[in-house]
Amino acid sequence: MSATTSQKPDHAAIKTQQKELCDEIALEQFLNLSGNVLAVTDADGYLIMTNDIFRTLLGYEPGEEHSIKLPDLLHPDDRASALSAIRSMIQHSENGQAETSAPVCFEARTLTRNGQAIPMDWRFCLSGGKLYCAGRDIRALKAQQNAIAEHEAQLTEAESIGKIGRWHWQIGQKNFEWSDELYRIFDVQPDSFTPTLESVNKKLHRVDGGRMIQAFQRAMISQTAYDLDFRVIKNGGEIAYIRCMGRCAVNDFGEVTALYGIMQDVTELMLHEEELRKAKEGAERAYAAKTQFLANMSHELRTPLNAIIGFSEMMQRQLLGPIGTEKYLDYIAGIRESGEHLLDLITDILDMSKIEAGKYTLHLEEINIAKLIRMGIHMMEGRALEAGIKLYFECSNEELVIRADRRAMLQMLLNLMSNAVKFSKPGGNVYVSCLEREQYYSIKIRDEGIGIPAHKLGDVLNPFEQAESHYAREHEGTGLGLAITKDLAELHGGALHIESALGQGTTVTIRMPYEAVSA
Ligand code: ATP
Ligand code: MG
Repeated sequence: MSATTSQKPDHAAIKTQQKELCDEIALEQFLNLSGNVLAVTDADGYLIMTNDIFRTLLGYEPGEEHSIKLPDLLHPDDRASALSAIRSMIQHSENGQAETSAPVCFEARTLTRNGQAIPMDWRFCLSGGKLYCAGRDIRALKAQQNAIAEHEAQLTEAESIGKIGRWHWQIGQKNFEWSDELYRIFDVQPDSFTPTLESVNKKLHRVDGGRMIQAFQRAMISQTAYDLDFRVIKNGGEIAYIRCMGRCAVNDFGEVTALYGIMQDVTELMLHEEELRKAKEGAERAYAAKTQFLANMSHELRTPLNAIIGFSEMMQRQLLGPIGTEKYLDYIAGIRESGEHLLDLITDILDMSKIEAGKYTLHLEEINIAKLIRMGIHMMEGRALEAGIKLYFECSNEELVIRADRRAMLQMLLNLMSNAVKFSKPGGNVYVSCLEREQYYSIKIRDEGIGIPAHKLGDVLNPFEQAESHYAREHEGTGLGLAITKDLAELHGGALHIESALGQGTTVTIRMPYEAVSA
């Protein structure tokens, strides 16, 4: 039982008090306390009482408004509907014989003294033959509504551009809320399709059916973000690929109350990816075929070339008897040189294709690296002498033994030294050095030659890439030396690095592990 007993209000007493209040002219001050426009009209519609806000907002001097009829305050376009609402209210109250009518509400633009139209929300009621009016200036509200509508339109436009739609599912409810773009994505019409778990599921590809419901169930249990891809069958039978990403809304008790997120039509992207994948596979197949072709061709060419070189050497040495005409010896020397040059080239191509095909196997052994470098220099000396270049060698440890593939190491050294000699000017120097570091040793080959332009530094490591254009080339070569050297260094677990300044020289460094590991 309640401690206090509530008494029934004595309506008659309250009414008397109210009348006394009005008589005490407190009413006017009371009306002025309101932030809304308040007005009372007589039976003819003339304004007989208004509050301060009425006069400030609509621009009337005190007393001036008494000569105005209420309908004149309403914008001509809104007047008819407002008056009809008021009339039906009057009708109702006359029929019902009530002293005070039920209030009627409408929105109408209201005119200020100087003709400006202010959108206002009005509430009217009839009592004792007078019309009591309360109006609220809704300009700020309208501005907010317009801003919201503008944002909504921008969002809809952005969704249409990105083919992304929003959705929201309040758990326990049958229907989804979703944005217009999703109707387009699912190829359905808003007036004939209601998005529910069931109706959406029906639009999915047979194989994807049920996956969305499962993903939702998992998300509700784990309370984590989720995404899934599925296919939608459009009306014409074509398939749209949809990516759905969602989050969970969780209440203060840690319960999932809603799922929401976006769905994006990624069909174009998927088709593009598919094309790219096919193109990549095609390119890989073509590349593998090219590598195989080069390997076969190189192998086939080597046999006749060895015969050409071998026999021309025999003839040059006149092993089976003298050659009658002196000029023939020159020709034979030419045949042999050309043959050797071709063999070098073919060996390079074969090596390159073996490396690219992953078929180059290292035969690792212990090597005294200083000795091997000296041997390379010795092999290069003839060419250097011819070009007027001096070769220098420096090694921090003459006894350093490393583990590597001897043939590959020599090939790398010869490739780099031949470049240094080839791209040096007569009278230039080439410095070869071998340095021991804690984790690795490095071999540096430095020249003072023509250098490589900075924008070509990355390219020259690719097969067949050369810094000089084919037309302006002064130097012989195919553009395979550096690519092979880099690949061989990497096969050993090492790396190749080039520094160069145009016109000043080039330094190529190979950093190698002391113990290469055969892959
Ligand atoms: P190949 O070595 O197959 O006979 P190549 O010497 O032209 O031909 P790479 O050794 O791969 O090919 O070198 C590629 C390019 O890099 C060269 O053509 C040259 O433009 C540039 N290059 C390489 N080494 C040097 C160097 N020491 N100085 C200047 N340019 C160099
Ligand atoms: Mg080279």
